[in-house]
Order: sequence, then structure tokens, then C-alpha cells
Amino acid sequence: MYLSLATTHRPATDLGFLLHKNPVRLHETALTFGKAFLFYPEVSVERCEAALVLDVDPIELVRGKGRADGLLDQYVNDRPYAASSFLSVALGRVLGTAMAGNSRERPDLAATALPLEAAVTPVSGGEALIRGLFEPLGWNVSVDVLPADYATLRLSGTARLQALLNHLYVLIPVLDNDKHYWVGEDEVTKLLKRGEGWLETHPARETIVGRYLKHRRGLARQALERLVPETEKEADGRDERLTREDAIEIPLRLNDQRLEAVVEALRAARARKIADLGCGEGKLLQRLLRERWIESLVGVDASTLSLDRAQRRLKLDLASGPSLGRVRLLHGALTYRDKRWEEADAAALVEVIEHLDSDRLPALEQIVFGIARPKTAVVTTPNADYNVLFPNLPPGELRHPDHRFEWTRAQFHGWAEEVGRAHGYGLAFGEIGSRHEAFGAPTQMAVFSREAA
Ligand code: SAH
Repeated sequence: MYLSLATTHRPATDLGFLLHKNPVRLHETALTFGKAFLFYPEVSVERCEAALVLDVDPIELVRGKGRADGLLDQYVNDRPYAASSFLSVALGRVLGTAMAGNSRERPDLAATALPLEAAVTPVSGGEALIRGLFEPLGWNVSVDVLPADYATLRLSGTARLQALLNHLYVLIPVLDNDKHYWVGEDEVTKLLKRGEGWLETHPARETIVGRYLKHRRGLARQALERLVPETEKEADGRDERLTREDAIEIPLRLNDQRLEAVVEALRAARARKIADLGCGEGKLLQRLLRERWIESLVGVDASTLSLDRAQRRLKLDLASGPSLGRVRLLHGALTYRDKRWEEADAAALVEVIEHLDSDRLPALEQIVFGIARPKTAVVTTPNADYNVLFPNLPPGELRHPDHRFEWTRAQFHGWAEEVGRAHGYGLAFGEIGSRHEAFGAPTQMAVFSREAA
């Protein structure tokens, strides 16, 4: 079985630095089931190609140390020939550093989307499945049919090398629909690690998880539960307690990631007096209370119900709560001038603007950016480009019934730049949550700064 990786990025020979394999040499790696060879059939400034060839020893397979699970009784089979989990194991062994996204010599390039091509042969699984697995990830796919239901798969596209390697690592065994070793719980962890940032939103993720975990339903269920994409529902939903283990393994939830991103932006802006505008139930305030660099906090919201909850969350009514004056809650509307929070040097508007009718938004802009004029304002809002990735969200629907609009990245950037220009603020944009290559991250953020204007 054979896999090749190529780039036309210039100089293409940088591929050697990305793979941590010198293009002038033949690299041989011993594996329990045979040998892997890596070499470069093409090395030029315009195009550089590396090939990974596996020489699987069929006798070792059935008799040796690398004895493959379930193959004892199968002397005659296609194991040595079809691209399968053997190839994934070899990828991990031979190109582990590149798969982790690291490059000692070219770290910037490892983090950059490059023009890439890959070929794998022979693969099984059929053309429809092959396309269904790779096309949603943004790859141009071509399939050359070979005898006996095999095919050669070719991919091309622009992506980070790490993404390509992880896609191949997971999806080659999925096409093969078998594994040469017993799958246990550590396979779930491996799958989630290699699938990070793309598997959770893949339309065929159930097929992928089922096949990858060899149709062991208990494991597949466990993996799918841990994979469910972060939705807005969670942000509004129950505060589920996680076990310690879960807390370590489950990637930070979107809501927490959003709070952390906002806290970091405020910290970087050296904010001391912060107004949380549309503070809701006070989650950001609660998080900010832990930060010693903050002098005072004020939360503003139009909903008394939310403010009641915030008061309880922040223990404002208890003697054991925060010291008097460090945090205040105000009932008010963001579309009217309110001197009680105007002295803040930073304002946060976390998932708030989309709750305003678009004809009221200019009033909020005027109050916040025209009149209060904090040095810094951090605004987050859903990224509508990402919505296609939520399996339970019908096309065109919004994530939350109270949202009046959800903006694409282009719409949000357009709005923020307009506001920045009108009121003299410079801008930086950020993305929050795990990022999809084509659709971006679930939440988008803009940091307005008067000093950067
Ligand atoms: N920032 C919070 C809450 C987001 S929900 C969080 O991230 O958890 C949006 C909040 O904005 C709601 O609590 C709603 O009551 C408030 N809100 C919406 N329009 C408002 C307005 N015009 N004035 C004040 N608050 C408003």
C-alpha cells in the first residue's frame, strides 16, 4: 500500500522540514507488522512529493509479534495490500511530529494552509463513501477505479498539512472498515484527538465513528456523546456537573471558551472598570470576580428575572459574597443613556447584539460607542456561516428563538468596521470554539479599541 503527499507551495522542498524527513534520504522504519519506507519521488522548488510505502509481512501478521487480531485463521486475505489501519499506524510512527502540527524548522508553515495533494492506493469502500468522507472536509476528490472493488484516491486542496494527515489517519481505516488490532477505549480517545476540529461537525460522523470503532456500539455511543458539536443550547442550558475525568477529557465547552476569550481580551486591554452590558445571569461577572486586576464590575440587563439569577449566582445577598462595591447589577436598557455605567473603561457585549431588533441596534451603537465611549469594547455574536454544521438546525433557522439575526463573518466584520470608522475605534477580530476549515468557529468576536484607532 502506498500513500503520497505533495505540495506546490514555494519552495516546495520545505515539505521535508514539515515532515521532519530529509528529501535526499530514504527513511526506513521497522513496525511490528512489517516495514515503512519514506522517500521523495519528486524534489524541486515547484513541487515536492513524499511517498510512504508499507511492506507488510504476511507471515509476521499471522505468526509474529505483530499478530493481527482476528487474522489467525486467515492466511489468505487482502490485509497486506489494502490501505488500512496499518497505514494509519505507520503514519503515526513515521510522521507523528507533523501530525501533531509541529515543525522545528518551519513552525509558521505548519500552521498555514498550503496547496496540498495526496494519493492513497489501493483503498476500498466505493466511490460514494470516499466522496462522502473527504468532500465535506473541503478536498477535491478524484477516484480511479481499480479491479476487485479497489480504487486509487486522490485529494487536492488548501489546508494545513496536519489537517490532511489527521483526515487520512482517521478515514483510511474507515474506508477499509476493519482494523488489524482490537479496539478498546483508548481508540475512542485517539479518534477524538485525531478528529479534533473537524469530526464533530462532519455530516458522516456517525458512519466514521461506527466504522472506526469497528462497530462496537458501546464505544461508538461514547465517542458520539463526546463529539456532539457545541451548540448555543448549551450556553443557555443547565449547568451540568462534570466528573473529574470528563473535565479533563472533554474539550472546553463553547460557553467556557467564550468566557475565557473575553476575559483574555479584557486583560490584554488592561481594563480595570468593566461593564458587562446584557450580563444575563452573570456568568461573565462571576468569572471576572476571580481576577485580581479588576477594580470594579457592573452588570446591566433589561431582564429582572436574569438579574435575580445573577444576584444569586454572585452571592450578592450573602455576607460571604464579594466585597461591597466591587460588583453592582443595574436594571436598564442598552438603547438609552445611563450614566451609572458610563465611567467603565471597558464594555463587554457577550451574545447580546443579536437579541436586538436591527432597527434598535443603531441606538445601542450610539450609546456605547458614541456616548459612553469606553477605551475597549468586546463584542461576541454567533457566526452564521457555522450554522450548516449543526445537525439539528434546519437551514435558515436561528440558534435561539430570541435571536433577531445571526450574522455571517462578512456581515459582522462589515458592521464592526462601520462602527469603528464612525466612532474612532480600531479593531481586532477573533474566533471562539473549535474551528472548521471552511465555516470558521461557532462564535465570532470583535475587540474595539480607541487607542488602536
Ligand atoms: N451576556 C450573557 C447573556 C446573553 S443573552 C451571556 O453571555 O450569558 C442576551 C441578554 O441581553 C439577555 O439577558 C437580555 O435580557 C439582554 N438584553 C437584550 N436586549 C437588551 C437591551 N436592549 N438592554 C439591556 N439588555 C438587553
